Amino acid sequence: MQNKIFNNTEIAFKNKSFLDLLRAYLIFKIISFPVLVTIGKYVLLLLLKAKFPIKFLIKSSIFKQFCGGENEDECKKTIDNLRTSGIYSILDYSVEGLVSNKSFDNTVLRTLNLIKLNTSNNFPFIVFKPTAIGEFKLYEKVSSNKKLSNKEAIEWGSVINRFNLICESALKNNVSVLIDAEESWIQASVDEIFENLIVKYNSERTTVYNTVQAYRVDRLNYIKYLQNKFESKKVYIGIKLVRGAYMEKERERSYKLNYASPIHNSKNDTDVCFNDCINYMFEHINLFSIFIGTHNEESNALAIKNIKNHNVNIKDGKVWFSQLYGMSDHISYNLSFNGYRVAKYLPFGPVKDVIPYLLRRADENTSIEGQTSRELLLFKKEFKRRKSLL
Ligand SMILES: Cc1cc2nc3c(=O)[nH]c(=O)nc-3n(C[C@H](O)[C@H](O)[C@H](O)COP(=O)(O)OP(=O)(O)OC[C@H]3O[C@@H](n4cnc5c(N)ncnc54)[C@H](O)[C@@H]3O)c2cc1C
Repeated sequence: MQNKIFNNTEIAFKNKSFLDLLRAYLIFKIISFPVLVTIGKYVLLLLLKAKFPIKFLIKSSIFKQFCGGENEDECKKTIDNLRTSGIYSILDYSVEGLVSNKSFDNTVLRTLNLIKLNTSNNFPFIVFKPTAIGEFKLYEKVSSNKKLSNKEAIEWGSVINRFNLICESALKNNVSVLIDAEESWIQASVDEIFENLIVKYNSERTTVYNTVQAYRVDRLNYIKYLQNKFESKKVYIGIKLVRGAYMEKERERSYKLNYASPIHNSKNDTDVCFNDCINYMFEHINLFSIFIGTHNEESNALAIKNIKNHNVNIKDGKVWFSQLYGMSDHISYNLSFNGYRVAKYLPFGPVKDVIPYLLRRADENTSIEGQTSRELLLFKKEFKRRKSLL
């Protein structure tokens, strides 16, 4: 299913100067070659290890393409720029590997500050990863129903408290909270927390959203389970629907530990599940608020079709579309131009600390070959269009 609204490159690249376009084109061109990505990653990590002064080079190239800045202030220009096209920003502190209680509390503080920054309503959402506010091993233990020691039980109480602090402040300040999804073997504990948060914070409006990864074989049933459990209660269920980003890791673990892979066997099966989840939630649109996180044109087109079929008012915030900053502008800008609610994930953080995030973007764009060539094709189309105006 295609939708021709995504082909308009004049709208898609309206905010991009010739140099911006050229930089984006060159970056996508380079990362379309897997060999170059592998060599580039190796060289980059070596140079960083040798403390070679390459910050400027990274900051003006791949960082500029995929990140808003090193801190909230530096993101301001990008946020304003996106807003001129009606697109909201979701500031995403993309520093990974935080593992102490101090860093978990810092994430909460940073998130609370971001919520309070929302005076001009430029950030309708804030986002965090569960493992940025609690220890991975603890989520894992709770997810596998193992008994916690006294010390662990106290720590788990602190984790739940951090979720509540964020949601409470979000509810007060009219912001919504997106809980990212990570590895499947920690998700059961997050799902359990989410059910409690729904009851506490989602009765007046959809304050909190959980993430569903459609590459998981059990997730359509999870959505049905939520619908059954909550349909008679006066609450809203917020779901951020994505395909899932940990496929290789999931498959490797299930192979190593000898259990059935939780991931669909093929891309097509994941696509079918994604579509089924969309269709099902739209059939129960009074209960669900849907946040669609995908760069896939067909998935976005299916959501548009559902919006029309179910007469959903695109201004009332029941349905949001989202892409990552620096990717699929043809989808974000054209959706926004046509009146849909759109928000870009805008990663930020010190250059050296967001390198893992940037490397994942490079890997992702190498592995989803079709999408990269689509971006390149659209850049070329826009160059041609602008040339014809000279
Ligand atoms: C706004 C936003 C928020 C996101 N938040 C999260 C998050 O919280 N957690 C998370 O895990 N990811 C998240 N992602 C990433 C997302 O899960 C996908 O990895 C990414 O968007 C690519 O999927 P797609 O639908 O955009 O594109 P597509 O190119 O249509 O799909 C690629 C995806 O299909 C699936 N896939 C590919 N090959 C196979 C195969 N052989 N078998 C089965 N499935 C396959 C994988 O999930 C792969 O990532 C987010 C993405 C966006 C845009």
